[in-house]
Amino acid sequence: MALLRLLSTDFDGTLIAHPSSGRCSPAFAEVLRLHRAMGGLWAVNTGRGFDHALEGIGIFGAPYEPDFLLTTEREIFLRTGEGDWRPDDHWNETCRQRHQELFSRADHIFSKIHELAASSPDVTLIHEEGELVGLLTSSEAVMEEIAGFILREAADLPEFHFQRNTVYLRFCHRDYHKGAALGELCRRLAIGREEVFAGGDHFNDLSMLDGKYAAFPCCPSNAIDEVKSVVRSAGGYVASNVAADGVAEAWKFFTSRP
Ligand SMILES: [Mg+2]
Repeated sequence: MALLRLLSTDFDGTLIAHPSSGRCSPAFAEVLRLHRAMGGLWAVNTGRGFDHALEGIGIFGAPYEPDFLLTTEREIFLRTGEGDWRPDDHWNETCRQRHQELFSRADHIFSKIHELAASSPDVTLIHEEGELVGLLTSSEAVMEEIAGFILREAADLPEFHFQRNTVYLRFCHRDYHKGAALGELCRRLAIGREEVFAGGDHFNDLSMLDGKYAAFPCCPSNAIDEVKSVVRSAGGYVASNVAADGVAEAWKFFTSRP
């Protein structure tokens, strides 16, 4: 039987289906209670920014707050004993500096992306604090094309990469993704990969589902085929239920098998 000390769950598409009420399902609430009763910890590992993640977690209304929030596929926040959120200053600042340094060498890639967005009504650029951070496409088919375009344009700068989730894409350093953030959290907590459960549904979850950082990866039935394939290859569990009910099904599978 698996002794799971840490759950790392994506949020959109994994804990909440779209469209849905955004509320925690009874089956997942039960799993959280059981996991917590055994001293287990829970990280929400999402592509959302910090404020947007907190908003979603508020609506979700789980019986317990997560212990950790890993946001924008790379930053780490820890819940304090008082229930406040404290950034992991060292990791987040190093992450910020490495992105700043990389993006300062990527003007030629950003120029091409600006040109593309100016000529296509199907591509909308996303800015945060005045900086271009990602883009939104009119469909997943368009996203597939844009992802290929960026990879071609960034061929001379291999550290330049992105995380994509349905019609959203965020630029990033190749070293930073959900798996790396989860790995750093486990290093801090002295938790081994054989004690970690991870659940996700889309491209931006692949880095935490390939077995490197979590020995117990899973996905709900609504996950994309690429995710199901990676989860199966890593010896994980592909659930037959949707979203949080699928995650709960996977947790019960791992914790009850001999
Ligand atoms: Mg997702």
